Amino acid sequence: MTISYHKYNLQLIHPFGIANSQRTFTPVVFIEIHFRNLVGYGEASLPPYLPETQDSVISFLQKIDLSTFNHPIEINHILDYVNNLQTNNIAAKAAVDIALHDLLGKFFNKPWHKLYNCNLLKMPATSITIGIDKLSVIEQKVNEAKEFSILKVKLDANNPTEIINCIRQITTKPICVDANQAWANKEMALDIIEWLSTQNVIFIEQPMPKSMDKETAWLKQKNILPIIADESFQTIADIEKMAESFNGINIKLMKCGGMREAYKIIEHAKQLKLKVLIGCMNESSCANLAAAQLAPLANWVDLDGPFMINNNPFENPALENGKIMLNENPGLGLNKLGNF
Ligand code: MG
Repeated sequence: MTISYHKYNLQLIHPFGIANSQRTFTPVVFIEIHFRNLVGYGEASLPPYLPETQDSVISFLQKIDLSTFNHPIEINHILDYVNNLQTNNIAAKAAVDIALHDLLGKFFNKPWHKLYNCNLLKMPATSITIGIDKLSVIEQKVNEAKEFSILKVKLDANNPTEIINCIRQITTKPICVDANQAWANKEMALDIIEWLSTQNVIFIEQPMPKSMDKETAWLKQKNILPIIADESFQTIADIEKMAESFNGINIKLMKCGGMREAYKIIEHAKQLKLKVLIGCMNESSCANLAAAQLAPLANWVDLDGPFMINNNPFENPALENGKIMLNENPGLGLNKLGNF
């Protein structure tokens, strides 16, 4: 087996605003793992607020020597070897995990949702993200989201009611709220959440800073809307303590290291009675369809990455009634359109 990689910038259709930042593109690294006549594709997404960069991913990949492994069926050994090469480098490790899953699925000639024994009838609809912006732009984005049945709305502490009121003049669709840690005062957060609970809101993601999980536990105990951990939850090592402060967790392949780890986390979350949201960074169809293979096991899905970019090198996932429709093609079901 051999590995190759390509730097790429995903161009965003609209500049993407969350609490404290805005950007127009997201750097990624695509990788290919070759075995006989098969190719498995992987992707590392590298939003600027995370520590990894295209160069750090490539320097990690250059340390990987797959020549001692004969077959992708050794996936667990290979992933253990990759994990042990160096700490951190989670997005780079996720790219390798995703490519190996794609490759192995192709070798078995089966899609991963089948290998996971997922019931596709249980696929939740995916939300589409409406970032923080001027109200006129938010209005435009909501109008453009016709294909989607759930909105994921980013809010900060400045004008949350104004943004929700603006959206509610256009649509009654359910809304998931993501505050990206912006509400640093628990009484203020409670006031906003109480009001949001009258606005057909499904859950609140990361209302408070990750350093304030104790205060978040106080919010959870008020039992008004489910509180979901994103920034507070990275890997399986965090999961036990999540159950104290949150009702659920947002699992992203780029945070946890890939499909193998995400599957383990889902199993563990169910034991702890934590709800599962499967989310993404800005990603092409590659990392997105990898996560979507597991999505029928989740309570909620936020896999909108490919729908927010205009230079996806793979075919966009099919959507029906706001749900990602997984195909029966082997591996991740990717259809590559052009060069990286
Ligand atoms: Mg989030």
